[in-house]
Amino acid sequence: SYRLLPVLIHRSKEERGVMHTLLSQQENYEDILPERLSSGDISAFVTIMRGCNNYCAYCVVPYVRGRERSRNPQTIIAEVKDLVSKGYKEVTLLGQNVNSYHWEDPSGKTLTFAGLLGLVAEVNPLLRVRFATSHPKDLSDDILHVMAGYANICKSIHLPLQSGSDAVLRKMNRGYSSEEYMKRIEAVYSIVPGCTVTTDIIAGFCGETEEDHQATLNIMRRAGYDYAYMFKYNPRPGTYAAEHYPDDVPDEVKTRRLNEIIALQQELSEKNKQAEKGKIVEVLVEGPSKKSPDEFSGRTSQNRVVVFPRGNSRPGDYVNVLITGYTPATLTGVIR
Ligand code: SF4
Repeated sequence: SYRLLPVLIHRSKEERGVMHTLLSQQENYEDILPERLSSGDISAFVTIMRGCNNYCAYCVVPYVRGRERSRNPQTIIAEVKDLVSKGYKEVTLLGQNVNSYHWEDPSGKTLTFAGLLGLVAEVNPLLRVRFATSHPKDLSDDILHVMAGYANICKSIHLPLQSGSDAVLRKMNRGYSSEEYMKRIEAVYSIVPGCTVTTDIIAGFCGETEEDHQATLNIMRRAGYDYAYMFKYNPRPGTYAAEHYPDDVPDEVKTRRLNEIIALQQELSEKNKQAEKGKIVEVLVEGPSKKSPDEFSGRTSQNRVVVFPRGNSRPGDYVNVLITGYTPATLTGVIR
């Protein structure tokens, strides 16, 4: 466990080859305030839970991180307050499946992720709050209502689809059907208006047919994702899929399907960016853009990157930007 690091470092001065590889089933980063080495940062990650109980067929996480355990909310709030006092403007609550966060205190009182999200949002109304990652089967309406109820909870959700085919989803052990997934997407758009949804998609999972692939493209069109992380299936040793299913989609077919998924996502992203033109959006300034020191880049609540002439703004400021155009990667605009 990482808690033994001080002991291991001390012992390494006296012995050669000190190691400790046992995974702790209890550790959840409680009472450990990370040392943040860079100063002037705007955004920080705060771990709220560790591990995963889901055992998706292709994933190693439950084997390497163990089962889910949630962190004491008091230590989470203390860390967030500490970040605010140091000038941070945004926190991202992190876990493999934050929606299944669950804390029970000694009196039996419980706290869900929806409750925790509200507590973090109340630390400071100028602190932006994000979270990742959500599992579609655990994204409750309660969470969405809390998102809608606090202006400082960012209106963006990462909701991994992986496949739009029910047969493939079953084989992946994802725990939802394509229609159940779409019901969650509809709930997001109706309860949290203006929210963007991003996703993960795997092309060419074991046994995936052309029809399965078309089902994925179909869900992508219906969901209207703002952005997607897209991969070819690659078996991970030790996982259920690697041990039980042949990796039988030829590589050239995986590549072609992945390219079709990427091309469709580019269309969807462009359509969403086009719809932003002419709007004034609030941007949290992060720092100089990659291309010019005269321009700043920052993010909207919807997690869209915006590049604009810096004017008198400084990193950490909230500025209103009129969106005038876009590039393949960002929105562009001017401060209003
Ligand atoms: S893909 Fe995500 S939900 Fe599934 S086992 Fe891995 S970490 Fe858990």
